[in-house]
Amino acid sequence: MQLEWIDRAVDTCYSSVMSQDQRFEFIAGCPALCFVDTFGDRAGEGRERLNSPRALAEWLAKAGLSSAMPFDITDGQLESARLLREAIFRGASFMIGKNDPKQSDIRLINRFAAQPPLRPQIRSGKLCLVAGNPLDAALSALAADAIELFATSRRDRIHRCPGCAMIFEDTSRPGRRRWCSSAKGCGNREKLRNLRSRRMLESREV
Ligand SMILES: [Zn+2]
Repeated sequence: MQLEWIDRAVDTCYSSVMSQDQRFEFIAGCPALCFVDTFGDRAGEGRERLNSPRALAEWLAKAGLSSAMPFDITDGQLESARLLREAIFRGASFMIGKNDPKQSDIRLINRFAAQPPLRPQIRSGKLCLVAGNPLDAALSALAADAIELFATSRRDRIHRCPGCAMIFEDTSRPGRRRWCSSAKGCGNREKLRNLRSRRMLESREV
């Protein structure tokens, strides 16, 4: 019975995850918030990066939640994944404001998390994740991460970048991360701005 289940399962091996698509960044600190970040520019006009079933399949592969490419995802399943993403976004936004998330969002996240998860297997000496329904299992993993984020002390580490409004989890040891990324993007621009103002002040003092 177990073997039958594995035969029907779709392999998801971390080692075979390869994509040249640079549209997706994974700088939000945890899988659930990286998923939220697939809708970008939330402070502005908004930018939907999951604009096709294939885009979702690519993101899942890059996230290490699937390597089954091409991944058979319907428009309805894409819409369902977006519903989960937006529920996590709203939940995280409430957490930042120290408010409780909406019960309807919690119910939806719980429903996704209740699906059978990805399970580890060894294939040719490598770690593979398998599931009877790989999409439901991948979304279940994202929902489970959101639950752990919201229901533990991790929620105190959820922040919104003042530059671009991206929501992220501060996983740094001191817990003083303010920007979406210290290596590039908003944090880097802030460093340049500070450097320029310091130089201007120094030149005035001379
Ligand atoms: Zn930012």
